[in-house]
Amino acid sequence: MNGTNYDACPECDLLLRTAHPKMGEKAHCPRCGFLLSRPRKQSVERTFALSIAGFILFFPANLLPMVGITVLGNVNTGILMSGVIALFNDGMVIVAVVVFLASIFFPLVHLTLSLLISGHLYFNWPNRYLVGWMRWMHHLDEWVMLEVYMLGVIVACVKLMAIAPLKFGWGLYAFIALIIITTLLTSGLDSALFWQRIGQLSKENSHAS
Ligand SMILES: [Zn+2]
Repeated sequence: MNGTNYDACPECDLLLRTAHPKMGEKAHCPRCGFLLSRPRKQSVERTFALSIAGFILFFPANLLPMVGITVLGNVNTGILMSGVIALFNDGMVIVAVVVFLASIFFPLVHLTLSLLISGHLYFNWPNRYLVGWMRWMHHLDEWVMLEVYMLGVIVACVKLMAIAPLKFGWGLYAFIALIIITTLLTSGLDSALFWQRIGQLSKENSHAS
């Protein structure tokens, strides 16, 4: 990649030189006014911190019980994976696979990628896989659907509450926190800045070697 990149305006398709606005400035399309890029404050640092927090929360959200229910003296607890297993046992194999991918596997890969990318940028470590990681992370953006799973959890809880009193577990709280962090992570990621920093790193690296 070199300095003279061209982008089409996503709104009106006007061909434009890739804009690199400074912090606090915005780049608008001169024809239709579409907001092309708006550098987020300390996006690398923020993404790095949120990725670490998300990565730590991922484990209690998946391993600790989300809900507990007592039926005839027996305590049953459910973790995130129990929902997937229940769907699988009910014969809804495809739904089980989709739920597993969208609520467990893709979020983990997405968090790992954003941790790797922001960590490398934060410490200025060049890596030839950075471009590939960025592409994969953008593809996964559409596939991380923790909120959809959350809706399922709420529906299941309301149904179960009719049978017996529910006890909410730490897994549920960790899962809610994970949703908030994932949302902040994707909304605060300044991808124009990330691409620019990745370009700089690879340039510096090729000068050094
Ligand atoms: Zn435009």
